[in-house]
Amino acid sequence: MAQHPSRHLDRFRERTRLVHAGREPFDQHGFVNTPIYRGSTVLYPTVDDLKHRRGTYSYGTKGTPTTRSLETAWSSLAGAADTVLTPSGLAAITVALMTVCRAGGHLLVTDSVYRPTRNYCDTVLRRFGVETTYYDPLIGGRIGELIRPETCAVFTEAPGSQTFEMQDIPAIAETARAHDIPVLMDNTWATPLFFPPHEMGVDIAIEAGTKYLSGGSDLLLGLTSANARWARKLRDTFDACAPCAGPEDVFLGLRGLRTMALRLKEHERQALEIALWLAARPEVSRVLHPALPEDPGHAIWQRDFRGASGLFAVILKPASEAAVAAMLDGLELFGMGYSWGGFESLVIPFDAASYRTATEWKPEGPALRFHIGLEDLEDLKADLDAGFARLRATV
Ligand SMILES: *Cc1c(COP(=O)(O)O)cnc(C)c1O
Repeated sequence: MAQHPSRHLDRFRERTRLVHAGREPFDQHGFVNTPIYRGSTVLYPTVDDLKHRRGTYSYGTKGTPTTRSLETAWSSLAGAADTVLTPSGLAAITVALMTVCRAGGHLLVTDSVYRPTRNYCDTVLRRFGVETTYYDPLIGGRIGELIRPETCAVFTEAPGSQTFEMQDIPAIAETARAHDIPVLMDNTWATPLFFPPHEMGVDIAIEAGTKYLSGGSDLLLGLTSANARWARKLRDTFDACAPCAGPEDVFLGLRGLRTMALRLKEHERQALEIALWLAARPEVSRVLHPALPEDPGHAIWQRDFRGASGLFAVILKPASEAAVAAMLDGLELFGMGYSWGGFESLVIPFDAASYRTATEWKPEGPALRFHIGLEDLEDLKADLDAGFARLRATV
């Protein structure tokens, strides 16, 4: 192994790149992993070097060997020209939006978007003179009808946060490209392993590394990647604002990356089995999971996606708030809390009707979002089974 394969990775397949990308063991005494570089100041040996900023690194905010390692690896995985790392997934979304927006501009955002993205658009971007129009997530190529001369981007997310609508990303990308407008996508649910964003026509893709890249509910991290067309502008915007991720979190992100394919496959398998089990329950009206054949988004999922992660939702048959509380409050294994993507199972009730503006969300009963972790499936089913008994026993 005279030279580590990270120097010419393109000829390898995805799983191999996940293991080798972004590592240079022989630049660091042979140790397998890139160490945590902490630092602000980068020294130059001579005045001339300082003047011309000669060298790979110039200042802590602009990158270290640690951040470069994860950026390189993620770009290789996502098929991107460049990636920047931020201290949270939401920060990654704001960097992407700041890259494409300008005062007086107009933004098209899916009505099924992650709620804090909506909040950023409605508060900060609005204050800076950017107007947002929310659109039906199922719009597909008809997005063209909403594009105006001042439209600066189309923001997508598939499946939708909480409500799991599938978006026809290639159709939206084709229409946007014809109008010379970039497409942004929050790809956190699928990760590039299950949906290669740039190959599918997305210009700037966002991943909350907080979720499956971590896999441990133990860090906050965001990744924004861009194709060749937008890479320069993304990097310039990032450098102008310097929302840089902490070195420990980047290191943990790199550690998570090496096993992400394995974990995702297992979350997929576990979640599918629980989703099917829930679909057969008399208390459940329907399951919102694009990998299930009866899901309205199944055809798009099957055409464009390579897998499904561990997050989905169910609509219960009509039940009182007290009955749902009795079900959830007594669960032993399912935690209740925001975020997801870790090794543990989670559940939250949600009501998308309270914040939607472009489309109606009128489910026939209470809605629950599940994240299925790595526990034994029989234990999870028994926990839910006891929960359903409490639901039935409460009016
Ligand atoms: C969690 C999440 C984010 C934000 O990630 P944070 O690191 O929590 O800021 C963005 N998009 C989606 C779809 C998410 O689920």
